Amino acid sequence: MTSSSADVVVIGLGPGGGEVADRLLDAGMSVVGVERELVGGECPYWGCVPSKMMIRGSTLIAENRRADPYAGRSSIEPDLAFVAKRIRDEATDTWDDTVAADRFEGKGGRLVRGSAKLAGTGRVVVGDDTFVAARGVVVASGSAPVVPPVQGLADTRYWTNREAISAEQAPTSLVVLGGGSVGVELAQMFARYGMRCGARVWPPPCRGRNATRRPARRPTATAADGAP
Ligand SMILES: Cc1cc2nc3c(=O)[nH]c(=O)nc-3n(C[C@H](O)[C@H](O)[C@H](O)COP(=O)(O)OP(=O)(O)OC[C@H]3O[C@@H](n4cnc5c(N)ncnc54)[C@H](O)[C@@H]3O)c2cc1C
Repeated sequence: MTSSSADVVVIGLGPGGGEVADRLLDAGMSVVGVERELVGGECPYWGCVPSKMMIRGSTLIAENRRADPYAGRSSIEPDLAFVAKRIRDEATDTWDDTVAADRFEGKGGRLVRGSAKLAGTGRVVVGDDTFVAARGVVVASGSAPVVPPVQGLADTRYWTNREAISAEQAPTSLVVLGGGSVGVELAQMFARYGMRCGARVWPPPCRGRNATRRPARRPTATAADGAP
């Protein structure tokens, strides 16, 4: 059991916590960063970066299918395994955060692996160790997918974004619960990669929480790709 101190303790080193920690280090403060999974958080490993690689691949597939009237006959055999390999080799180091952890420590941050708990004003406990923050504690613990109370869902092997992003083959069919940006982009991407039964987005994109900010043509576009 140890106790140590720092100017600031940052809980969670995703994009939010990582940016705060960087700026505090730049300002000359001592920073303890606590991370229970991967330094970098959701975005580089199961979010923005790999999803955009998949979407880029799926756009190439769609463009290829549209080439005929403009560029000549063209054919393509969609295969998610190609982009799955790139995600492992070029984006996530097969979900290894050594580079990001080294970068944080190289800037002078103290990285603590484990799950942080608040234990009073300025006190953070990780396992048997206590960290006392002289200036403050930053909670940047992110969010997790909400699993809706759908009867029977808990007994199925459902996916969240993590299983979708780490898939090596497109599923044969998919029902996407949640018509927000993540649900829609994943549905369209998988549909373009050749799911036989298509993706159903529920609720339909137009009726999602941010309906007023969505372009009216989006359902048409996703439907054309087999993701109504
Ligand atoms: C499929 C998908 C695509 C996306 N695409 C985009 C995009 O194109 N552009 C965009 O801007 N955003 C995108 N996002 C959203 C983006 O990933 C999030 O907005 C971003 O990751 C949020 O950063 P964060 O630091 O708040 O949280 P997170 O990234 O969730 O990081 C929080 C960190 O805190 C850690 N943590 C939590 N609790 C504790 C604890 N008690 N102790 C220690 N550590 C803890 C977690 O392990 C995690 O690493 C996408 C998300 C998904 C799922």
